[in-house]
Amino acid sequence: MAYRVTLIPGDGIGPEVTGAARVVADATDVKIDWEVAEAGEATLRAQGTPLPDSVLESIRRNKVALKGPITTPIGGGFRSVNVALRQQLDLYASVRPARAIAGEGTRFPETDLIVVREATEGLYSGVEHWVDRDHTAAETVAVITRKASDRIVRFAFELARREHRRRVTAVHKANIMKTTGALFQTAFREMAPHYPEIAADERLIDNMCMQLAKKPEEYDVLVTTNLFGDILSDLCAGLAGGLGVAPGALFGETLAVFEPVHGSAPKYAGQDRADPVAEILCLELLLRHLGEPEAAERVFRAVWETIAEKKVVTYDLALPGYTTRPVPASTCSAMAREIARKVPAVDLDRPLPKPRGPAAAATDGALEA
Ligand code: NAD
Repeated sequence: MAYRVTLIPGDGIGPEVTGAARVVADATDVKIDWEVAEAGEATLRAQGTPLPDSVLESIRRNKVALKGPITTPIGGGFRSVNVALRQQLDLYASVRPARAIAGEGTRFPETDLIVVREATEGLYSGVEHWVDRDHTAAETVAVITRKASDRIVRFAFELARREHRRRVTAVHKANIMKTTGALFQTAFREMAPHYPEIAADERLIDNMCMQLAKKPEEYDVLVTTNLFGDILSDLCAGLAGGLGVAPGALFGETLAVFEPVHGSAPKYAGQDRADPVAEILCLELLLRHLGEPEAAERVFRAVWETIAEKKVVTYDLALPGYTTRPVPASTCSAMAREIARKVPAVDLDRPLPKPRGPAAAATDGALEA
């Protein structure tokens, strides 16, 4: 039986990296029937809206989607399609694992974190306006509700429990934001005792950034509000090797959309240069979500081996590593073909050089909220 999955290629490098993920998907023995749904800049030009209803309907129907990045104009233009998608489908939990792969491109090879970000409210609620006619003052409202705080904190603890994680850290700024920050903090403090086997602690966002830059290996699951989570997940992607290798997933009560942390990288669009790994690791997470752990593990190991070999890698991974020399950069499509070539051949019994963190190992079919 084939799984029907919505595929949103997106903007910029999106069509290239989602194309790469399809090449790798075809190398597994899982049959996926992709339902392509276009959204973003070109769709705005062609259909008058960057997010047609048909895209939302496709995801609602199929329950699962693989998505490329979508451009958001800065300081004006259309509203973020990414934010609208999360809000309209109530995809409230953004899960962004940051694990260093094969020690390449990172000073922190022990990094194995998961950022859990509330994705429907906070400063992304879309409530903002000019205060005066001359546009000399403006307000953006951060909406934090107890309901959304409770469910994201519960999601983070449930994820930690399933994945045998030892610690959940709430990240906020409750010393300054005494209503919104305190509401989130209270939700966390009241939820934590229900998970006595998991250590629970808190960090102010500024201190958290400093701690992550010094000793990321001490942290495990981070749960936070929308804007802090957006920033922290890019920071953690950097710790684990860069945006080119950072996957992500969005979960609602019944729907799941898999998308990389990175954006549409317009300067590399159409050049076959972008790193396909983040999107391919989104495919890995998607396969686990579908209940196909062996195919997912093959994809993960094929990525791992390709990066560790460092023969066919894109420009960002071809740079000198901390133990390896620079190599000529390969194209996005060549790296995808190399990963796909390895998928059927990987030895599932062979221990990985670095033990796998619990992040992916225990998520098989279980990440859904
Ligand atoms: P970006 O992630 O697109 O790029 C940041 C840097 O990382 C750039 O130097 C880029 O070239 C590099 N990079 C990103 N992905 C890469 C990859 N796969 N391989 C190699 N290098 C890669 O962030 P940005 O420039 O701030 O944003 C560009 C656009 O993407 C904006 O319109 C933004 O709103 C949008 N965006 C979309 C999403 C999403 O769809 N979920 C997320 C973030 C940004």
